[in-house]
Amino acid sequence: MGVVADLGRPPEIPQEALADMQALLASGRLHRYAENPLHPTPVAQLERAFAALIGRAYAVALNSCGSAMFMALKAAGVRPGDPVLMNAFTLGPVPGAVDHIGARPVLVEITEDLTIDLDDLRAKARSSGARHLLLSHMRGHICDMNALAAFCTAEGIALIEDCAHTLGAFWAGRPTGSFGLAGCFSFQSAKHINTGEGGILVTDDPDLAAQAILHSGSYMLYTQNGTVPPAEVMDHWKTRCANYSLRMSNLVAALALPQLPLVPARVADWNASHDRIAARLAAHQAFALPRRPQAEAYAQSSLQFRLPGADGAQMARFVAASRGAGVMVKWFGTELPEGYTSSPPHWIGADASLVPRACAIQATLCDIRIPLGLSAHDCDNIADTLLKAASALDMEGTPHGRA
Ligand SMILES: *Cc1c(COP(=O)(O)O)cnc(C)c1O
Repeated sequence: MGVVADLGRPPEIPQEALADMQALLASGRLHRYAENPLHPTPVAQLERAFAALIGRAYAVALNSCGSAMFMALKAAGVRPGDPVLMNAFTLGPVPGAVDHIGARPVLVEITEDLTIDLDDLRAKARSSGARHLLLSHMRGHICDMNALAAFCTAEGIALIEDCAHTLGAFWAGRPTGSFGLAGCFSFQSAKHINTGEGGILVTDDPDLAAQAILHSGSYMLYTQNGTVPPAEVMDHWKTRCANYSLRMSNLVAALALPQLPLVPARVADWNASHDRIAARLAAHQAFALPRRPQAEAYAQSSLQFRLPGADGAQMARFVAASRGAGVMVKWFGTELPEGYTSSPPHWIGADASLVPRACAIQATLCDIRIPLGLSAHDCDNIADTLLKAASALDMEGTPHGRA
């Protein structure tokens, strides 16, 4: 049987971006800095627009979200050997950003709703003495951000948000990336803006922004950035930050800019498909879906579900049957990392034995991408395929997901 729908299809590039890029290519001015720069450069325009979108003073455009997290941790004062708290449901580049500094990930438990467990966070913060939390809104699941931000403030823990899956999402009316010291976003093709590669860091902290600008490789041409800290702040840092060459090019910014206003419509499209498939799965006793609190305005470009009653062999059969019937299901319970999917035992430098519950949850956790433009018929076919694959498992008398 063929593919039900190409779930990996990335967001399309708008025509307007193609025209902008052609003009830019003709000019040859692809590097963001120049002795005689464009006014303004596409990267500077993007930085201003993005800072305004998230409601922060500064945005620094970089070559990936992984670089943005590395920069945020570094500029927030994380040093080699330091413990960094992180939720144990995330993607490889998040522990990778901690490893990039030579720091040490301290994994924190998650709940069945796939968000960080605030009680375990409190315990791990005390036991590790960590001063930094790299919080991943993994696959779009947002914890109680007001409670989390209050905890971090009270404990003096610097919060860095990984918003790779939450551009266009809000907690209690506030965009993710606006709750902590810094927020990091990705423009990789699987995310909400598609430029192939790209990332951006947002912050209100002038010292953090100054260090990120200088470390990114601004060649003392930082007045060409879109959002620049005061001159005395730049003067303090400009002889103290090595150049790591993590810049974004004008070409990437020109691709991103016309996509920014499209995000709300994309989110509505993703959520409509997500909610239709999720409702069908939730009605079946074998499936458990994470609860979504009222305060969370999600942007769900993927869908997560568990088969809590399945053992490893049944999970493997479910995944194989779904894929065989044309739905590319991913599973977080594999022994080795597969494609984009990984779990605590796979992360270099992390101790998975700290998070037995997160490992148990991920042992029965699956994931599908949701491309833009699915029809109601496509959504129903996807749901039917998954339901059929689960029914074939014959799990008798299994405990089921919550109502
Ligand atoms: C994709 C992703 C990243 C990293 O983004 P890059 O731009 O590829 O570096 C970080 N966190 C999560 C949760 C992601 O999905």
